[in-house]
Amino acid sequence: MKKETKKKLVVVGNGMVTGRFLDELQAVKHIPYDITVISAEPYGSYNRIMLSSVLSGGSNIDSIVQKTPKWYSDHQIMLHHGEAVTHIDGANRTVTTDKQAVIHYDHLVLAMGSRSSTISAANQDIENIFPFRSIADTNQMLEAAKKANNAIIVGGGFLGLEAAWGLAQHGVEVTVIHRGSYILNRQLDRAAATMLQGKLETKGVRFVLDDEIARFNGQTRLEDAVLKSGKTIKTDMAIIATGITPNAELGWEAGLAGDKAIKVDALMQTNNAHISAIGECIEFEGQTFGLVDPLWRHAKVLADRLCSTNKPYPSFENTPIASKLKISGINLYSAGVMNAPDGARELIINDPASNVYRKLIIQNEQLIGIVLFGDVRSGPWYFERMIERSSIQQLMPDLIFGEEFLAA
Ligand SMILES: Cc1cc2nc3c(=O)[nH]c(=O)nc-3n(C[C@H](O)[C@H](O)[C@H](O)COP(=O)(O)OP(=O)(O)OC[C@H]3O[C@@H](n4cnc5c(N)ncnc54)[C@H](O)[C@@H]3O)c2cc1C
Repeated sequence: MKKETKKKLVVVGNGMVTGRFLDELQAVKHIPYDITVISAEPYGSYNRIMLSSVLSGGSNIDSIVQKTPKWYSDHQIMLHHGEAVTHIDGANRTVTTDKQAVIHYDHLVLAMGSRSSTISAANQDIENIFPFRSIADTNQMLEAAKKANNAIIVGGGFLGLEAAWGLAQHGVEVTVIHRGSYILNRQLDRAAATMLQGKLETKGVRFVLDDEIARFNGQTRLEDAVLKSGKTIKTDMAIIATGITPNAELGWEAGLAGDKAIKVDALMQTNNAHISAIGECIEFEGQTFGLVDPLWRHAKVLADRLCSTNKPYPSFENTPIASKLKISGINLYSAGVMNAPDGARELIINDPASNVYRKLIIQNEQLIGIVLFGDVRSGPWYFERMIERSSIQQLMPDLIFGEEFLAA
């Protein structure tokens, strides 16, 4: 019997969104493509989220690998691992890799993720200053932590706090340097952030707020960091966790549109009909992404469009996301706005003695913001009320006491 000739689907990047996209494709009865995945990292796809747990010693690398190279061959997917795409030729529909392979595509999917954002501090070329993004970064940090007494974490967002907690588990004295006047300033309000900081301080993490690194000092290896305030902090290692920058340049060089990342429409289609993009390297309606929940929907939308003949295809909708911190013993949950805009009202329970804080923000009878610290049991229930945008009037005045109280 004559072998079916399928179109060639090439995926650049093999991170979390690609893993999910491949799973979505496997769920389709007949995949109309031969698939090639090109991965700069030298492994199958892994659960990047769990790198925080690997750093703290709660997990090991083997346990976070989700697809081994064998999985790809078992599913007739060609995997080029440890190989990066360096050029896209949109006219001839080829990609070129750093190993000089030229690979033809009928359809190209860009899933190149992000990299850690850099900071402007002077003298960053010395040893023991790390980004926190990959298995390689985490292994290097773990190695450095064995010899380190002190560490600096630059950035008091989720990633920075998880890194701080992770290193503290190795007996390293950790100081978080944060530019804002309170930590997690995008996910919490000041009151909840102050409680969180207090809790982390009891676990040995120190904080310097309203400050930034001006320069790092050291001959070959990091010795100290000088802050913009003039303060000097002795340190053996530093982790830069100030945010992420989408890996969009390869797409832009190939003529793809986008200001912050690669611009796509609600079907994950770029301005080139033969190129789609998903994950953290995309921009949708001016917004970029940094958490996996919307990425799963990118993967599903694209798999449906590429494999289904049923139109109209389901499209991507950008909905609010809830945030949680992955530090054992610390419970926080937040979603929506953190501070009441004009015309909105706030319901608050603040009990510093029991380390419990709860704030709900309500506008036009709708829940538009949730900040929970300490007791987060009602988080998902509040989140559902927020997403469904229904009137919460009939749940007043007891809404602030949570699902359990209202159900009793
Ligand atoms: C330590 C840590 C903890 C996190 N915790 C959470 C969490 O608790 N909750 C949450 O929702 N999110 C979390 N995130 C964010 C989450 O991991 C990302 O949203 C997700 O990994 C993005 O998936 P992606 O596939 O778009 O990008 P990535 O997973 O970064 O994968 C992109 C891949 O593409 C490769 N690549 C780039 N350019 C090329 C090229 N030219 N050629 C070939 N390959 C290329 C990269 O090397 C990389 O392997 C965390 C991230 C980190 C680093």
